[in-house]
Amino acid sequence: MPEKKEIPIGTGLFVWPSDEARLIATRCKSCGDTFFPKTFMCRNPERKEKAIEEVTLSRKGKLLSYTILHFPPPPPFIVSGAYEPRAVAEVEMPEGLRLIAPMTQFDFKDIKIGMTMEIVLDSLYRDKEGNEIIGWKFRPL
Ligand SMILES: [Zn+2]
Repeated sequence: MPEKKEIPIGTGLFVWPSDEARLIATRCKSCGDTFFPKTFMCRNPERKEKAIEEVTLSRKGKLLSYTILHFPPPPPFIVSGAYEPRAVAEVEMPEGLRLIAPMTQFDFKDIKIGMTMEIVLDSLYRDKEGNEIIGWKFRPL
């Protein structure tokens, strides 16, 4: 039986392999706006200077909003066994952008707007070969 692997959900989205979740973004050298996923130039329409540099984002942000999914997501996400409700968080990052990702390691009753969330790398689902597809999630601190 072939060995099961951990495979990132995309290339260039986060530092891989790594035990620490470091999302890869771009920052404009002129206005400082930060974009995730990476872009090829600044998207600020008021600026002429478009040169960007690659940066990694902070690992912590503030919970702005969340929703609870009572139904399974569509493929390719494979849910084995009974579906348990899960939460998706919108988090404001210190770099001034907002990220949306699933929440992990939390209790529904403990979720509070404004709480500090940390980015972690975790399995999103298993593919048909049984490999773990790795992405980022938010964990309350
Ligand atoms: Zn700019």
